[in-house]
Amino acid sequence: MVSDYVELVCEKCCNCDMLFWITKKHHDALILSKESFYCPNGHSQSYTGKTDAQKLKEAKENTKRIQGYWEDTCNERNKHYDDLRKAKRKIKKLQKDALQEKAE
Ligand SMILES: [Zn+2]
Repeated sequence: MVSDYVELVCEKCCNCDMLFWITKKHHDALILSKESFYCPNGHSQSYTGKTDAQKLKEAKENTKRIQGYWEDTCNERNKHYDDLRKAKRKIKKLQKDALQEKAE
């Protein structure tokens, strides 16, 4: 006796609410291809949403974009911080020079 196990996915028609089963392999292929398929009453169905792989790719792209923005912002902040330190040093030097001139 040969036995085959096939994983099935239950679908519900969005038009007539009929339940029907398709193989998981076919189900996964339909999600990727977004091709139309039909319920037993002939109503056209299709998966229109994004696949998990597409969602993951978009999330990675968003993370990379946000990380780049964050790094640019930190670099800009550090540059302003350095400019501010230089300006404070210059002010201190000018104040010191002015006090020396006044004392002379
Ligand atoms: Zn139907």
